[in-house]
Parts: sequence; structure tokens; C-alpha cells
Amino acid sequence: MVPQAKLALITGGSRGIGRGIALALARAGFGVVVNYVAHREAAEECLRLCEAARPRGSDAPCLLYQADISRAEERERLLSFVMREGGWLDLLVNNAGVAPAARVDLLQATEESFDRLMAINLKAPFFLTQATANLWLARLGELPPERARPKVINISSISAETASSDRGDYCVSKAGLSMVTRLFAARLAEFGIYVYELRPGIIKTEMTAPVQDKYERLIAQGLTPIRRWGTPEDVGRAVVCIAQDTFSFSTGEVMNVDGGFHLRRL
Ligand code: NAP
Repeated sequence: MVPQAKLALITGGSRGIGRGIALALARAGFGVVVNYVAHREAAEECLRLCEAARPRGSDAPCLLYQADISRAEERERLLSFVMREGGWLDLLVNNAGVAPAARVDLLQATEESFDRLMAINLKAPFFLTQATANLWLARLGELPPERARPKVINISSISAETASSDRGDYCVSKAGLSMVTRLFAARLAEFGIYVYELRPGIIKTEMTAPVQDKYERLIAQGLTPIRRWGTPEDVGRAVVCIAQDTFSFSTGEVMNVDGGFHLRRL
């Protein structure tokens, strides 16, 4: 039995961009599963906000699930929970990600930080997408047509293309995630499963808090044509557009949510 409301799983949905995405989806009528790893209170707060944001009369589920997505067995637990409690998944948002614990020049970068970032930012979305796609493919035939077009949205970064030599591991992980999008987009299109990359710019969250002053200055100097910080709400709105089938003849597409940062200027 497939529930009425569409359901989205947002990895790292407790705070920051993930929370913005969860809230925007809940407001648009989606059920949400908010995954988190350590900050339970933040995740519970997000859930309360999602419940309050639902359209009047909606009984779309808002669920919480703790899992470290860098671990295979925890990814498996997470997906089992989603399918058991939600019945079906319409949208996987691979959002969870981490920055290096310290910004370190490329010539001193450590393997420890590299391995950590690859495990969370790259390996986790690759294998979560793989496992989800296999679940989808096994059941697509049972579903009504409007539910048989699930999607994946990968939250990468301008760092997928911008070389920052004081956090090379982060840039490599996001460049890799960009290829993950293209690979799964190419492989899954024939089944009606589309995969997108959403590339945020400088977004005000706890991740960017340690470098807030630097970015404040750069933005004021015109680093981004749109001279302001991005917000989790900006990213959430873009996710909803993709989730609502707006781009019905596009897959593997990159959507920049970066205030125009990517524009080459002279
Ligand atoms: P954030 O505020 O630090 O939030 C990170 C989220 O990821 C939290 O919900 C955290 O859960 C979760 N998380 C971290 N490791 C996890 C793991 N192993 N398993 C499950 N969840 C995990 O970061 P953010 O700024 O919102 O960034 C979200 C995504 O956007 C990341 O992929 C980041 O690379 C990307 N991004 C951010 C910016 C930016 O300017 N902020 C720009 C471009 C791209 P807990 O709350 O439980 O710790």
C-alpha cells in the first residue's frame, strides 16, 4: 500500500541546508524523513517545524531517523526504516556533508581528513543512491504512474568546480559527487528515475560560521553578483522545484544556487 503523500528522505536534515530543504518540502505537502547523526535536539526541532509547516489538513508523515550515513549497515537500517514506516520513497536528497575539521594547505593535507570527507561526502551518497535505486527498481512496476518517477537530488557545492587549496579534500569530494550525479542519471533514466545536482554557493549555516567574517567581506566586495549570503530557504525552494517534476525532460542537470558565483566575469 503506497501512502497518499509523497515522501522525501533528507540526509543531514537536522540543521542548516538540510533543515531548509526538509521545511520547504513539508510546506509543499511532502512527507519527510529527517536523518541526522549526532544532534538529536536539532533534529527534533526540525521535525516540529516540519509538522507545523505542513499544508492545513495534511497528514503527510514527518519522521526522524538517526544514522551515520558513512556506515554501510546504518545506511541499510535507514532505508529499511523509510520503506517500513513510509511505504515508499519518492525523493532521496543526499545532503549530509562535512567540511574538514581545519582548513589546511594542500601541501600539508592529511589522509585522515581526506578519508573522513570521502566517506561522508562521496561514498555515502554513492551507495545510498545505489541501494535506493535497487529498491525502486524492484517495485516500480507495482506503482501508480505518478509515483513511479522517483528522484535523487545531490547537494554538491561550488567547490565541485572551484579550487580552494586550503580544503582540497572537500573540493575532491564534491567534484566526485558531481560525477555520481551524472553516472546515476545516465544509468537510471530509462526507468524514469531522474538524478540532479544542486550546487549551493556560500550559504549561512554552522558549516560556514568559522569563516563568516571572511565571506562577509568578500560578498560585500562583489564576490557574488547577488550580494548577499544564500540561505537554507534558497536551497529548499530550488529542491521543491525539482521535486515537483518541473524539469520533466532533464536529468543529470546542475542547478546553481549560488547568487551567480559561477558566472565568469571580466
Ligand atoms: P551543517 O549545518 O554543518 O549541517 C550538516 C548536516 O549533516 C547536519 O544535519 C548533520 O547532522 C549531518 N551529518 C553530518 N555527518 C553526517 C553523517 N555521517 N551521517 C548523517 N548525517 C550527517 O552543514 P550545511 O552547511 O547545512 O551543509 C549541508 C550540505 O550542503 C553539505 O553537503 C555541504 O557540503 C553542502 N554545502 C554547504 C554550503 C554552505 O555554504 N553551507 C555550500 C555548498 C554546499 P547532525 O545535526 O546530527 O550533526
